[in-house]
Amino acid sequence: MDNNNLQNQNNKPKKKIGFYWVYIILIAFFIGSIVFGNTGSTKTTTMTELSKMLREQDIEKIELVNGKTAEIYLNEQGIRKYFPNERQQSFGKSPNYILKVSEDRLYTKVDEAQQGLANPIEVIPVERHNWGAEVISWVLPLVLIIGFWVLVMRRMGGGSGMGGGQIFSIGKSKATLYDQEKDNKTTFKDVAGLEEAKEEVMEIVDFLKNPTRYTRLGGKIPKGVLLVGPPGTGKTLLAKSVAGEANVPFFSISGSDFVEMFVGVGASRVRDLFKQAKEKSPCIIFIDEIDAIGRARGKNIMSGGNDERESTLNQLLTEMDGFGTNSGVIVLAATNRADILDKALMRAGRFDRQIYVELPDLNGRREIFEVHMRSLKLGNDVDKEFLAKQTPGFSGADIANVCNEAALIAARRNKENIEKQDFLDAIDRIVGGLEKKNSVITQSEKKVIAFHEAGHATTSWMLEHAHPLVKVTIVPRGKALGAAWYLPDERQITTKEQMYHEMIATLGGRAAEQIIFGQISTGALNDLEKVSKQAHAMVMYYGLDETIGNVSYYDSTGQQDYAFTKPFSEKTAEKIDAEVSKLIESAYQEALRILNEHKEGLTQLAEKLIDKEVIFTDDLVAIFGERPWKQEERTFTKKDNA
Ligand code: ADP
Ligand code: ZN
Repeated sequence: MDNNNLQNQNNKPKKKIGFYWVYIILIAFFIGSIVFGNTGSTKTTTMTELSKMLREQDIEKIELVNGKTAEIYLNEQGIRKYFPNERQQSFGKSPNYILKVSEDRLYTKVDEAQQGLANPIEVIPVERHNWGAEVISWVLPLVLIIGFWVLVMRRMGGGSGMGGGQIFSIGKSKATLYDQEKDNKTTFKDVAGLEEAKEEVMEIVDFLKNPTRYTRLGGKIPKGVLLVGPPGTGKTLLAKSVAGEANVPFFSISGSDFVEMFVGVGASRVRDLFKQAKEKSPCIIFIDEIDAIGRARGKNIMSGGNDERESTLNQLLTEMDGFGTNSGVIVLAATNRADILDKALMRAGRFDRQIYVELPDLNGRREIFEVHMRSLKLGNDVDKEFLAKQTPGFSGADIANVCNEAALIAARRNKENIEKQDFLDAIDRIVGGLEKKNSVITQSEKKVIAFHEAGHATTSWMLEHAHPLVKVTIVPRGKALGAAWYLPDERQITTKEQMYHEMIATLGGRAAEQIIFGQISTGALNDLEKVSKQAHAMVMYYGLDETIGNVSYYDSTGQQDYAFTKPFSEKTAEKIDAEVSKLIESAYQEALRILNEHKEGLTQLAEKLIDKEVIFTDDLVAIFGERPWKQEERTFTKKDNA
């Protein structure tokens, strides 16, 4: 993901053919055309003028070039007459006049004009090639076409970091090679958390370091390992650290780099990549976003299938089967959707191992903060534990981003050290986008937003299974007008009751508007969308509805397209619709009931919000008292926009 394009640093640097030669040729031709073309003080003239000159005998000679152009050279008398200032200079060297004229007409006119003269001049026909112009007229379009083609090739070749000469290397792999000796080495020290994943890849490091230990007993070293997990969780980092620990070269490429509009290019790139890798063995190939090529084949009914991608995938499979198990090349691939990959990829001898890389938990986040704070100048009040608690649901990449953003904020404030507040601001900024300090909100709008958010906060506080609240703001950020932050459980299974309670809390904002103002606003679109999705999921996917029963219409493979073919009858569809609205309606009624019961607290909370703009758990405790339910250690966050 973060390819610092340290392109082929250890290879002998690719010969750069450069793009400038095209310009150089163009300029050369331009100059050539000037040098070879007609120069000097040549004027055009008319037939009448010419006749006059002939009669008065001012002309030295007339040449008819290629039967089209008459070139007229004056004699001394003529020059004195017509170019009094130029005298000797151009005499006889270049024509003084030219005249475009047809052959026949010129001869007739010349004869006519000189009738009766003692020694008439004759027209001398000459054949002359202007090589410069002629060559240009042939070569220029050619050069332009080639230049254009090169440009297109380079575009398609992508990679601004790549050198020129792309035409010759379109089928070459675009993998970036990191060499452990030269480049900064990534090791397990740089990977925080991910203990289980690290343990698994530790084995691979061992394979690469002491292959004989395993092969001695007849065992086969795995060829492919699939890293599965959400973006930014450190899959690339992990793969890089494996290479770093084993001290082997590391080829990094993204699945989409194989895809090109030309048929066969992807396959040829795969071939080239494996060829390069085998030369450098032992080594690691890392393919990011392998789903770009590894998606299940032949399932794409709508788009008519993608032959190019299929052939690329086939080539990858062939290569993986082809190289001997003990050739020392191990392929690591990353994806966030293992379920849509072609089953053939996961067969024994290919990517038969899968390592799950999850979002970090509290501990993991603290460690990631530690890793990224190593290079920062921190103030005394920075507490990693606290920051880890404030960042539930953040990925490793998000945390790296927080650290960087905090440093920038502190720098902007001209501080010596990065302080706690800088980190908190950075977190807010990353969660919610930029604070809109001066976005225009009227007093009455502010009141509506405050009651809406207070409605969410109150309902979730009063429901045992709803996620407790961490923070509510009515500071507009990004597109949202206000927001409530919750700390959801890290629960692996959710009960019907939990889902129902969450729906009530989500509808709490709208319900509060209804109770206080007697009308509802458009601000709750986001909430409604969420509730509808959840209700649908309960009825259609999780089998949590009594009328519909224990049926799931979920398709975990993601390969069915329900837009056209629903797996249920019209009758069932009607029933589903009815159940969904029943569910939402009863949740809404429940939200109304809770808020009516705690109307006083709701009002206090909203007033506090209008006053302070941000409130935390403590403020809720002050108003409603402690929640009677014990809160377990939770991670993960959820944000609910206005
Ligand atoms: P992925 O490939 O899973 O999308 P990356 O490996 O590219 O994610 O992670 C992006 C960046 O996030 C890394 O360069 C690193 O700075 C940071 N990061 C992610 N996970 C971790 C982690 N577990 N420990 C330390 N840094 C991490
Ligand atoms: Zn809301």
